[in-house]
Amino acid sequence: MKVRVSELTQYLVCPRLVYFGTQGRGYESYAHTHAHTMREKGMIEGFILKEFAFNLHKITDCEDIAAITAIIGDIVESVPRIYREELEGLELDLMEAVKRDFIQGMNDEWLKKLRTENELTELERVHGYERERMMYSEKLNLSGSVDKLIIADEEVIPCMIKTGKSPGYGVWRSDRVQLAAYAMLIEDEFGSTVKRGFVQYIREAEFRMTQIRRSDRAEALRILKHVRRIKQGAFPDKGRNAPCENCAYSKYCDTRKTLLSKLLGK
Ligand code: SF4
Repeated sequence: MKVRVSELTQYLVCPRLVYFGTQGRGYESYAHTHAHTMREKGMIEGFILKEFAFNLHKITDCEDIAAITAIIGDIVESVPRIYREELEGLELDLMEAVKRDFIQGMNDEWLKKLRTENELTELERVHGYERERMMYSEKLNLSGSVDKLIIADEEVIPCMIKTGKSPGYGVWRSDRVQLAAYAMLIEDEFGSTVKRGFVQYIREAEFRMTQIRRSDRAEALRILKHVRRIKQGAFPDKGRNAPCENCAYSKYCDTRKTLLSKLLGK
């Protein structure tokens, strides 16, 4: 049973998302009015932010305001082409509105913070990075593509781009687990030990380094086992902080609850 790193992340949000999202099970994520439009808006904005992270070097290397503005325009305009598959069927008006709002909402402070030198931008400047490299471990039967892979001489460093909020300090637990999973993929492919990784919380221009701890590796392996069981058919409990309100599978979750209630005579 093949597992993707993204399914480990899904599990951490809510284990049932893995169950409903497993291909061939017939649960279609469904659209519903306001929540759906909000999700689409968030998705487009997330893609724009991600492209900012991939093109940071262009912005940091440039001193001319007019040129920076042109680069930002190019980044925003490139999104529909790069994410064509994901954005298929989306209303053009919505796309244009999000792009416009994004550019209007950008502030100098954020741009200034983005352009500030830090360890990660320095590493990228010297060594470059490989974008979304797909990796597969036969031993773990696990695959995934990390956003940026930096090969700095003997050291191979994974870097993830996140479009949500950053924690007050360090990186979120789910991000540490995801990085540990990438670390294990890198180790199987490159034969070297991954000691650290980066998370770019691009929305807040916060770039954080974290050590790959033993406990994160153990947690990633534990979740991998659970995900495998779910993909084989086990129906899991809800996640503790499951975001049911905006979930595209809530209809099915309710149905299953009703069936279970009936079986239990409640
Ligand atoms: S509705 Fe809630 S419990 Fe069900 S899959 Fe969605 S987030 Fe998980």
